Amino acid sequence: MNYLKPSTVEEATELLGSSQGMILAGGTDACVYMAEGFCDPETLIDIGAIDSLRGIETQPSDDGDVLWIGACTTISEIEASEALPRALRQGAHAIGSPQIRNLGTIGGNICNASPCGDTLAPLLSLEARFVLRSATGTRTVESADFFTGPKQTVLQAGELLECIDLPIDSCEWISAFRMIGNRNGQAISQVNAAVSTKLEGGVIQAMRAAVGSVAPVPLRLPQLEGALVGKTLQSVQWADLKAPIMAEIRPIDDVRSTATYRQELAVTLIFDALMDCARQDESARKGADT
Ligand SMILES: Cc1cc2nc3c(=O)[nH]c(=O)nc-3n(C[C@H](O)[C@H](O)[C@H](O)COP(=O)(O)OP(=O)(O)OC[C@H]3O[C@@H](n4cnc5c(N)ncnc54)[C@H](O)[C@@H]3O)c2cc1C
Repeated sequence: MNYLKPSTVEEATELLGSSQGMILAGGTDACVYMAEGFCDPETLIDIGAIDSLRGIETQPSDDGDVLWIGACTTISEIEASEALPRALRQGAHAIGSPQIRNLGTIGGNICNASPCGDTLAPLLSLEARFVLRSATGTRTVESADFFTGPKQTVLQAGELLECIDLPIDSCEWISAFRMIGNRNGQAISQVNAAVSTKLEGGVIQAMRAAVGSVAPVPLRLPQLEGALVGKTLQSVQWADLKAPIMAEIRPIDDVRSTATYRQELAVTLIFDALMDCARQDESARKGADT
């Protein structure tokens, strides 16, 4: 096997274009796949030492300011960044153990494209955009359009994920993430969910919700989003959520859970995330009054 370690993105995309090698970031998924024989790449391109692929900062863009996150920013760095929305930080915190979070990257979590990846529902609920780069240029894809199936994405041969852009206004909304796994330590999500809400006096002006592990790809829930606009968060009932969520999800039975349990979990986790948003809003308003 050839092991290549470029120090710039330009070098990485040139190597990717000429060798069709496999990208290695933190290696927490890729090394497991290689060890278990699921893949045997001729060339590995380790992008872990490219400084310009790492960091979190506000940057201007054609559509207004964005919070820029380099693809090789580690999950621990995402978890610790106070600049990032709560849902994304909570999703990062739910991943594996400290060792996995120190090595694993947000770009790896995205490109691995597991339906249960714990940063994916938060990214969809924040309307994140993914910037893909090849030796010939860049293109931007909405997070909701990036995933095409389990472990499948719109990434083309020769392309890598360079960064994630979060629109600044979505970072100002109140957000929350919830997941349930079989046990507390290092359990992969049976279902995960994230919501992001724009509130005025406790009333939902706009809302975005996404769930993972209930379909071949992480899903936005537009029917639910529309159904809750105009309501106060406090008045939302578990039963209000059931019909619009059931209409959109497609869970299956597998080793981690049954489809029926996943349906109940999706509703409960969205409800619980909304109640987290209600508590955040209440304490922000109390703080503003004092
Ligand atoms: C013990 C254990 C527990 C785990 N627990 C969880 C969990 O609770 N929740 C969860 O979501 N995940 C979990 N994971 C999975 C994994 O840690 C995460 O998905 C992690 O974020 C992957 O990042 P990485 O940098 O290690 O990716 P890598 O392993 O380096 O890469 C993963 C895949 O993405 C591709 N890739 C990586 N970066 C790019 C890029 N910039 N552009 C294009 N392609 C790229 C690689 O080619 C590879 O196919 C766990 C893994 C282990 C081993």
